[in-house]
Amino acid sequence: MTAVTAEKDYSFNKLQKRIRRDTGKAIQQFGMIESGDKIMVCLSGGKDSYTLLDTLLYLQRVAPIKFELIAVNLDQKQPGFPEHVLPEYLQQLGVDYQIVEEDTYSIVKDKIPEGKTTCSLCSRLRRGILYKTAKRLGATKIALGHHRDDMIETMFLNLFHGGKLKSMPPKLVSDNGEHVVIRPLAFCREKDIARYSEAQQFPIIPCNLCGSQENLQRKQIKAMLNQWDKQSPGRIESIFTAMQNVTPSHLVDASLFDFKSVIATGEADDDGDWAFDAPPLPAADTKKGPTSDPDKAIKITQIA
Ligand code: SF4
Repeated sequence: MTAVTAEKDYSFNKLQKRIRRDTGKAIQQFGMIESGDKIMVCLSGGKDSYTLLDTLLYLQRVAPIKFELIAVNLDQKQPGFPEHVLPEYLQQLGVDYQIVEEDTYSIVKDKIPEGKTTCSLCSRLRRGILYKTAKRLGATKIALGHHRDDMIETMFLNLFHGGKLKSMPPKLVSDNGEHVVIRPLAFCREKDIARYSEAQQFPIIPCNLCGSQENLQRKQIKAMLNQWDKQSPGRIESIFTAMQNVTPSHLVDASLFDFKSVIATGEADDDGDWAFDAPPLPAADTKKGPTSDPDKAIKITQIA
């Protein structure tokens, strides 16, 4: 083995370990998978969903609990959709799968006037079909491939355009109340997923087949975050750590904290607030992030 190949192997192994460890940590921290679960893994053919399936298959092999996986792709009949790609890939993997064919593309084209954005109807239709499929398959969980950076982007979208401090939850009950949806890649960085997907040579299906433009606001936020990441290394990590470290009493939402019941305790508290000046900025504790304690996280991965 040449030095270059050895170095490449080493860095691939490190990357794979990190993705598996971060996924295991999210699964454990949010109680995403239980013994006996049948997990429907939504596979779009993009880098994120391939990485999700690949990592869940690994965890299924090493986990001390038993759970089933079934990959589901929704063929929305977009022009040029390469129908053979996913079945070939999934057969080669030997994983259970279903391709659901529903022509949502024609419905969307028919209902939405030319030039208007089609994504909201398209995703509503897709959601409904995936819920129906999960029910038909008897799936106890639906797994989606959203990652840490999707969650951060969504938080800024809501902050800048929606007037809400709200991101994408790692685990939730679906809007029809019938399904538990999980996002096992919640702690994984998009750049790791992109590198992993490239190294694994996943057969990527382009995501612009419908002809719709990517949401402009999301695009702008992505560009802003990328710039921050280049100019101020560590800022994105700090933001994500902050999302796991919320202090409702120091925000302004009276439904989260009972400000009316605040009374003086009469006891000094060294960690208490300074009432007259803004407190000094604490040193960012990015250690709470998923990559801070590799040994601990690896153990978590093993038991996930
Ligand atoms: S980009 Fe295309 S496929 Fe994706 S949600 Fe929008 S309309 Fe649907």
